[in-house]
Amino acid sequence: MITGVVMAFIFGAIMGSFLNVCIYRMPSGKSVVWPGSHCPLCEKRIPWYDNVPFVSYLFLAGKCRFCRKKISIRYVVVELLTAMLFVMLYNRYGLSYDFFVYMVMVCGLIIATFIDIPHRIIPDEVSVGGMIVGFILVSIKGLSLSPFSFRFQPILSLAAVICLFWSHFILRLIFFGIR
Ligand SMILES: [Zn+2]
Repeated sequence: MITGVVMAFIFGAIMGSFLNVCIYRMPSGKSVVWPGSHCPLCEKRIPWYDNVPFVSYLFLAGKCRFCRKKISIRYVVVELLTAMLFVMLYNRYGLSYDFFVYMVMVCGLIIATFIDIPHRIIPDEVSVGGMIVGFILVSIKGLSLSPFSFRFQPILSLAAVICLFWSHFILRLIFFGIR
């Protein structure tokens, strides 16, 4: 159990590191996989040993190795938050399909939150992409500990997705009628 917790924490920290890349690049429409990590201030490539979650930040005292400018504490907050949430999910679900599904959901929510705070937007990759991915994941296997364990979960999920997609049209229809 304890090795599992440690593994979940390390995996969460590494995932958090990737989420930081998404949070930084998604609002400007840049690719999240290519090129590798760069310092947002001097644009120098960050070597792997400066990219280890928590450790590098402490070693570099929160500053870029090249330009010595301050690196946002947000990077550590996201890594720590992701790591802790992964540990909580592991404690609740163990190494299961549910863990995987909630892990994907947690990652999406963290990206949405940390982009929403400064930019006041939630990227389509998270909202629309999340709906599609969510539908696929519960279609493969319903969540055993979900509060909504219906027999026809995939069909209900699809209905929920359609409702969410069209919710603003439906609300406009209700409140303002058709224009
Ligand atoms: Zn720099």
